[in-house]
Amino acid sequence: MKIETLAIQSTQMPDANAGAVVAPIYLSTTFERAADGSYPHGFIYSRNDNPNRQLLEKSIALLENGQVGLAFASGMAATTALFQALKTGDHVITPNDAYYATNVLLEQIFAHWGLQFTKVDMTSLRAIEEAIRPETKLIWLESPSNPLLRISDIQAIATLAKQHGIYCAVDNTWATPIWQKPLDLGADIVMHATTKYFGGHSDILGGMLVLKEDNALAQRLRDIQKLTGAVPSPFEAWLTTRGIRTLAVRVKAQTANAQALAEYLTAHPAIEIVHYPGLTSHPQFAIAQKQMTGAGAMLSVQIKGDATQAMAVTQKLRLFTTATSLGGVESLIEHRKSVEGAQSPTPDNLLRVSVGLENMDDLIADWAQALASL
Ligand SMILES: *Cc1c(COP(=O)(O)O)cnc(C)c1O
Repeated sequence: MKIETLAIQSTQMPDANAGAVVAPIYLSTTFERAADGSYPHGFIYSRNDNPNRQLLEKSIALLENGQVGLAFASGMAATTALFQALKTGDHVITPNDAYYATNVLLEQIFAHWGLQFTKVDMTSLRAIEEAIRPETKLIWLESPSNPLLRISDIQAIATLAKQHGIYCAVDNTWATPIWQKPLDLGADIVMHATTKYFGGHSDILGGMLVLKEDNALAQRLRDIQKLTGAVPSPFEAWLTTRGIRTLAVRVKAQTANAQALAEYLTAHPAIEIVHYPGLTSHPQFAIAQKQMTGAGAMLSVQIKGDATQAMAVTQKLRLFTTATSLGGVESLIEHRKSVEGAQSPTPDNLLRVSVGLENMDDLIADWAQALASL
């Protein structure tokens, strides 16, 4: 079955009670035991599991071609669970260009618990190989990366990880399984901020881990999920499965808009550079072509000018709301450095764009008027 069909099929829940076509929301925190003490429907207590979360977990695992899906209250809660599965003294290799909070989490929280980490340029296999130590347990990738849209070679890195007995995890939030399937490329774990494209409407927080195999790590992560309790509510799980039903059409249409906008901006004299893996000028275009079936709907632009001029562009744009986050139906723009803070390596003139579902011509016309006045 193709992913578009799977997205619909996997989010249906047969309802013996009323024949509802759309899954009901089960708000109950607790589930009845039978006379013999068993739980006839498999549910005990909502932190452990509930019907809406189970539907979501099964659906995303299927979309990513994994055996186990685990839902969390946010993307960061999912990332946290994976780091919590490691031990004091273990070592993690992370990208130097990544979702900002991922490295801050390691620096500010996990360093206190004795988890070591090294940030590397994930576009260089040699840099990754040089960072491997006997204690290295996990290579964490993000491709395309944040905010520079760098592409790392998932297959090559997963192979390297395997040779050294190291887990390979991929933050697949930006590509989504519509365009990229890291588990098929050899990764062990996929992480998602379902807050973004899965939810798709900027109205829920959620996170997901998908494991290729139901192994000891999967069991450990299940325990962490249930015991630490950073789980989505049934309503958020329901909204996420609702989002999955339109994921494919949204991501494809948004990507078509992003490609057109990237091409327009690349040719514009007020733009220094466009970072988008769908452009032949992208330094890792060939790897993107190899491992992605589409380039996604995120792009970053560096304008010819400084931070103040970059900020001015965000104010002149009428159809792009100045706000953080991404993956919703509405276009957003963000001056990333001022969000990340002064110590961030992100260029001053960089604007990160989440391209929405609006009409492509309107979006391009909006940029034309905003840049004309620069
Ligand atoms: C948003 C995001 C996260 C974090 O997800 P939250 O739901 O905000 O906790 C992690 N990685 C990437 C690439 C993201 O875009």
